[in-house]
Amino acid sequence: MTGVAAACRRPLPVRRLGEPAPSAPPVEPNATLVDRRDPAGSVAVLVVRPDAGVHAFVSGQYFSLGLRVADHLIQRAYSAASTAGDDGIEFVIRLVDGGALTPQLWRLRPGDRVRIGPPKGLFRLADGDQRPHILVATGTGIAPLVSMAATLRSRPAPPTTVVLHGVARADELAMRDRLEAWAAAGTWLRYRPLVSRPSDPVNATWTGPTGRIDANLPGILGDLDVEAREAVAYVCGNPDAIGAVSRTLAALRMPSEAIVTEAYWPDPAR
Ligand SMILES: Cc1cc2nc3c(=O)[nH]c(=O)nc-3n(C[C@H](O)[C@H](O)[C@H](O)COP(=O)(O)OP(=O)(O)OC[C@H]3O[C@@H](n4cnc5c(N)ncnc54)[C@H](O)[C@@H]3O)c2cc1C
Repeated sequence: MTGVAAACRRPLPVRRLGEPAPSAPPVEPNATLVDRRDPAGSVAVLVVRPDAGVHAFVSGQYFSLGLRVADHLIQRAYSAASTAGDDGIEFVIRLVDGGALTPQLWRLRPGDRVRIGPPKGLFRLADGDQRPHILVATGTGIAPLVSMAATLRSRPAPPTTVVLHGVARADELAMRDRLEAWAAAGTWLRYRPLVSRPSDPVNATWTGPTGRIDANLPGILGDLDVEAREAVAYVCGNPDAIGAVSRTLAALRMPSEAIVTEAYWPDPAR
């Protein structure tokens, strides 16, 4: 008998009248916050170590991170910035004023316990694709792209990769040091951060490119001699920016199947 046939013949569990319903799956904390840094007042980088070790995942995927608040588990999706080989999962998180979870996450300190779910999502770096990679993020959308860049970097011959990161304030470039170090260490990666609000006093010392990421994209790709129509793009973050960047890439003759996107809101799971 095949395994499927055997499973079909197995009696289904029956609950008798008055018998208590099976208890809900446990929602106890199952991971520890092991590191935290705050590059900006509203952007934090958290590293969480699951008790059972880091589950295998593909760069680009997200995990649900949850806390018990007033006897309810509140959980939200967060993309991993680290890779599956690391011993903790790194997240880049924005504080959303009035949000249900992020103000609670802001209270956490190393040693505090959280609930983490399994990896999920179809925003995944494709294996073995040697086309030039154009990675475009706004805000904390940089997280899965850093994970992708780390995976590409580990390949024997990484493809030409351009990372564009747009933020409102320069101090929100949470992964700048890492990406600049990788770009300085090899010719395969080019990193182009840009700031959308140059007149904000917090950006007074910013001397790099400014403005909207979609408006800057054609010029940056042209300067770097990267042809959009021969490349693959992963675009993540603010849904309006994703739409604008996707339209710009299409105008540069990138086929739609080569544009892979992940919008951070609205959350399709809620
Ligand atoms: C697949 C996926 C991956 C995600 N990965 C990340 C990540 O790596 N880092 C991260 O910071 N967030 C990420 N998010 C967003 C995250 O899941 C939450 O929505 C966010 O942290 C707000 O949660 P909250 O409970 O504080 O606010 P909520 O009470 O849930 O919502 C407040 C409202 O704020 C808006 N909002 C949500 N996120 C933002 C934002 N970043 N900026 C401005 N407004 C926002 C939405 O309109 C939302 O309805 C991701 C979302 C998805 C769907």
